[in-house]
Amino acid sequence: MNNFNNKNMNVDALFLGPKSENAVFFREMMEYAISEHIHWRSGYHPEDPDLTTTVDRYAPEYRDTLYRTEGILNQLSSKLKSTSVPWFSPRYMGHMNADTLMISNLAYVMAMMYNPNNCAQESSPTTTVLEIEAGLDLCAMFGYDVQTSWGHITSGGTVANYEGLWVARNIKTLPLAMSKHPQAKVLLTETSETALLNMRTCDVLDLIDELKKLGLFEEIRDLTCRGAGVEQGKLGKLLVPQSKHYSWMKAMDILGLGQQNIVQLPVNKNYRTDVMKMRDIVFSLIEQGEPILAVVAVVGTTETGAIDNVAEVIKLRQECEQRFGVSFYVHIDAAYAGYACAMFRDENNQFLEYEALIKRYHNDGIFPVDMVWPKQDVYESFKALNQADSITVDPHKVGFISYAAGAICMKDKRIVDLISYHAAYVFEEVKESSRKTDKQQNVLLGSSIMEGSKAGATAAAVWAAHRLVPLNLLGYGKVIAAGITTANWMIDKINSSPSFVIDGREFTLVAMPAPDFHMINFMFRETGNISLEKQNQLNKRLYELCSYAAGRTYANDFLTSSTSLTYEEYGDNPQNLCLDANFKEEEWHKVRSIYVLRAAIMTHCLRDKQHFENYWNELKNIFEDKLQQLIDEENKHSHSLQKVSL
Ligand SMILES: *Cc1c(COP(=O)(O)O)cnc(C)c1O
Repeated sequence: MNNFNNKNMNVDALFLGPKSENAVFFREMMEYAISEHIHWRSGYHPEDPDLTTTVDRYAPEYRDTLYRTEGILNQLSSKLKSTSVPWFSPRYMGHMNADTLMISNLAYVMAMMYNPNNCAQESSPTTTVLEIEAGLDLCAMFGYDVQTSWGHITSGGTVANYEGLWVARNIKTLPLAMSKHPQAKVLLTETSETALLNMRTCDVLDLIDELKKLGLFEEIRDLTCRGAGVEQGKLGKLLVPQSKHYSWMKAMDILGLGQQNIVQLPVNKNYRTDVMKMRDIVFSLIEQGEPILAVVAVVGTTETGAIDNVAEVIKLRQECEQRFGVSFYVHIDAAYAGYACAMFRDENNQFLEYEALIKRYHNDGIFPVDMVWPKQDVYESFKALNQADSITVDPHKVGFISYAAGAICMKDKRIVDLISYHAAYVFEEVKESSRKTDKQQNVLLGSSIMEGSKAGATAAAVWAAHRLVPLNLLGYGKVIAAGITTANWMIDKINSSPSFVIDGREFTLVAMPAPDFHMINFMFRETGNISLEKQNQLNKRLYELCSYAAGRTYANDFLTSSTSLTYEEYGDNPQNLCLDANFKEEEWHKVRSIYVLRAAIMTHCLRDKQHFENYWNELKNIFEDKLQQLIDEENKHSHSLQKVSL
C-alpha cells in the first residue's frame, strides 16, 4: 500500500478521455512500451546473428505476408470501430463499464509483449510477484491481515465465486474425512455428523495444522470430497439472496453440489437480503439438522446495486455459534461494489469512523457538501467485510481495469491447502515476509487456483493501477465518488423532469429511489396507460433504441442496458416501483415483472455540476428523439395494419 498523500491526483489525467484528450501522452507511453521491448530483444545476446537481412525482407513473399498482415488489421479495426461499445463516453450508461485507466492499458500492453504466463513463476518471474502483491493490496483494502490472508487474480467474478465455493465445499468435508481415519479421529472433540458438518472455518483450519504436524494432512485430504466426491445433498444448503448473480447457479452445478441445494434468501423493499427472513431460514435449517454450506452476501447486486447487510450476516453467525454450536462459511460477492471499500480508508489504510469519513469527503472535495454517501448501514457493511471468509471483487468493473480481471481474497491463507495441487504449500518460501515478495522463487499459482495458464499482463495492469491510484479515499475513492455523485444527480433530474409531450401523448420518467451504490433503474411511463404489459413493451422498445440492438452502436446518441425485475427474483418488492409509476396493485399481480432501463453510472466525466447540467439537457433532447422515433414506428405499424384490414 502506498502511504503517500495523493491529494493532488487529477482524475482526468488517469484516463485517455472521451475525446482522447491525453492522446499525446498515451501514444508516447505506448511507444515507450514498444521501444523498450524492442531494445530488450535486440540487446539479448547481441552476438547472435539476425535471422533475416534487409534483402530477405524485400522478397515478394515476405512483403506479401506483411501486406496481408496490414490488410487483416485494417479489416479488424474497421469492424471494431463500427460496432464496439463506446464505454469511454458519458453517453454510455449501462453495464458496469466506463473508460479504463491509461495506466492499466499501458501496463497490460507493456507486459503482454513479454507474454508472461502466471500459471507458474518459471514462466512469469516478474508478473507472478505482481499478482501476489495486487492480491494483497485488495486484502489490505478489505481489512484482512496481509500476513495471514491472500488474494489472486481470476478471469472475473464468476470464477472467483467458483473458487469461494470450492474452498467452502472442501473445508466442509475435512472433519468428516478425519472421523473416518483412526489416527486423525482423536483430534476431534465431537464426532457426531452434525457437529462435524457445522464447525467454524478457523477451527477446521487449526485442525489442518495439527494434521500437518502428524504428517497426515495429505492422506486426509484425499478422503475429503476432493478425493471421494460429493455425497448427494450431504453438505447442506447454500444460502444466497434472490438477487444473486447467476454464476452461483453455475457454481453449484459445476462443483457437483446441485442447484436444488440453493436456498434463496428473500430481499426487502431495498432489494437487500431481508435480515429477519434470513434469520428465520437459518434457524429453521438448524432445527431440521440441515448443515449450511455457506451464506453469501452480495455487495452491489448486479441489477440494482443493493448492498446486503454484511454486519448482520456476521452477527447471525456469531449468534448461531453461541446458541447452537453451529457455524457456517461466509462469502461476499462484491464483484461489483468491492472497490468502493477504498472509499472508507485514509492514507494510512485506516477505516475511518463514520463522522470523520463524511467530514473528509466534504473537506477534500470528494463529494459535494450537500451530498451524504453512504447510508449508515452501507457503511457498516463495508466495515464488516474483514469478518468474511472470502470476498469476490472485479478489477474489471469498478477497478476501471481492462478485461479480464476479477479477484478473490481469502481471510486465512491456510485454506488454500485444501485445493492445492502442489506437494508443499506454495507460499512456504515467503511465510515470514509476505509483503517482501522479492524472496519468492517458485510460486505455482496454477496449482492452487481454478485456472491454469493465464495472462501475466493482467497482473501487471492491476498492480500498476493500484500503484498510481491508491486503494483509499483520495485514490479510487475520488474516481468512484464521481460516479456516485452523478448517479444521485441523475435520479434527482429524473424525478423532477417535466414530462415529454410528443404528438399529443405525454410521457414521464420514474426512477427507483435511493440506490446504495451507483446503479440506477428508471423507466418511461405514458400518461393514461394503465396496462403494465404495455408499459413493459414501451421500455423494452426504448431499450432497443438505446442499445447495440438499434444496429448503429457508434452513431447512437445514448446507450444503456435493461433488465426485468420479476416476482421470481424479488418477490412482491418491485410492486413499489409499479405503485410509484401509478400502476394498480392488480397490474403487478397480473404481470409480475417490470421492465426497467438500468445504468451503472461509472463515468468520471460529469462530476462538475455545470457540466452535468449541460449533459442532462442534451440527454432530455435525446430522450425526446427516441420517443418520437417510437411513436413514428407505432403510427407506421398501425397504418399498415389498417391497410391489411381493408
Ligand atoms: C458481475 C458480477 C459477477 C460476475 O462477474 P464476471 O466478472 O462477469 O464473471 C458476479 N457477481 C456479481 C454480484 C456481479 O455483479
